[in-house]
Amino acid sequence: MFNALVVDKDDDGKTHAAVKELSLDDLPHAEVTVAVEYSTVNYKDGLCIGPGGGLVRNYPHVPGIDFAGTVEASDDDRYKPGDKVVLTGWRVGEAHWGGYSQKARVKADWLVPLPKGLDTRQAMAVGTAGLTSMLSVMALEDHGLEPGHGPVLVTGAAGGVGSVAVALLASLGHEVAAVTGRPEQEAYLRDLGATQIVAREELTEVTRKPLESELWAGCVDAVAGAMLGRVLKQMKYGTSVAAVGLAGGAAIEGALITPFILRGVNLLGIDSVMQPFANRQRAWERIARDLPMDKLEAMVQPATLSDLPKLGGDILKGQVKGRVVVDLN
Ligand code: NDP
Repeated sequence: MFNALVVDKDDDGKTHAAVKELSLDDLPHAEVTVAVEYSTVNYKDGLCIGPGGGLVRNYPHVPGIDFAGTVEASDDDRYKPGDKVVLTGWRVGEAHWGGYSQKARVKADWLVPLPKGLDTRQAMAVGTAGLTSMLSVMALEDHGLEPGHGPVLVTGAAGGVGSVAVALLASLGHEVAAVTGRPEQEAYLRDLGATQIVAREELTEVTRKPLESELWAGCVDAVAGAMLGRVLKQMKYGTSVAAVGLAGGAAIEGALITPFILRGVNLLGIDSVMQPFANRQRAWERIARDLPMDKLEAMVQPATLSDLPKLGGDILKGQVKGRVVVDLN
């Protein structure tokens, strides 16, 4: 028997999340059984711990869109008992049972071997959010970003994606400008490596201006909404924005075609969920190499399974700072 956070739905349609005991027979059929050591809390987890946001197909459901642990049993040649693995994406924790459980059973295709230099706790301090930050930085680099080009803007900076992006970019030698709606997080962001703090309000007014002064050499945007509309008009000539999230709304308000056709700005879509294996592996190896582990540790807020119902609500309200690490040991 082992513990898991199980979300169930009443006849009246209301969902309830509680820690319950499950057995191996309760787990779905798949090739690899993993003893989960750590998981984390993402925006999607907040939805799936709560009413589901349309992501969960069937109840009872075990949320947790990412986890890291040790293989216990495997019917696939790529993995054997004792291997350390990490899983993000593939709709695990949404359409499939996820990582808020001391045991998980998943497809071998969904796993990535943990790179050397990263343990399972650090992997979940990074989590889907940090992997996505790395994929964003890789996309910006692939489109020409280099240290010395000027400040790189990170929006939603005190959140999970933003915190890891700030630390990564700073350690790679970039000047980092961090946008936050929480001025009390300035010291935290400067410790991660931000050299400039931009107040959220400076970028939330929708304007009809075709272009603004050229300020940013790149951007990792976790917010979208009015902020992305403004940021696009402030990009330097020929630079790129990695569009990651929608914490400020799904539309790009006030956006015009002008930054694209007059400044050659690129908007690069970043998806971590269906990302091919080779790029995931490359990103995890880059994380192990480029992300300073002391900065990562400074982002961590520890938690256990029983903390998750509250944390799920907090992340939906934008109240989680940095990265939550859920200990399942
Ligand atoms: P967090 O909640 O940890 O961070 C989001 C941050 O955005 C907040 O901390 C806050 O930062 C800022 N924010 C929140 N609400 C608003 C608002 N109304 N206007 C402006 N800024 C706001 O979430 P994550 O970092 O984990 O995820 C960020 C986004 O990225 C989410 O939309 C998530 O769904 C998406 N995502 C996408 C992935 C992909 O594969 N493309 C993978 C992972 C996440 P501050 O307080 O500093 O202002």
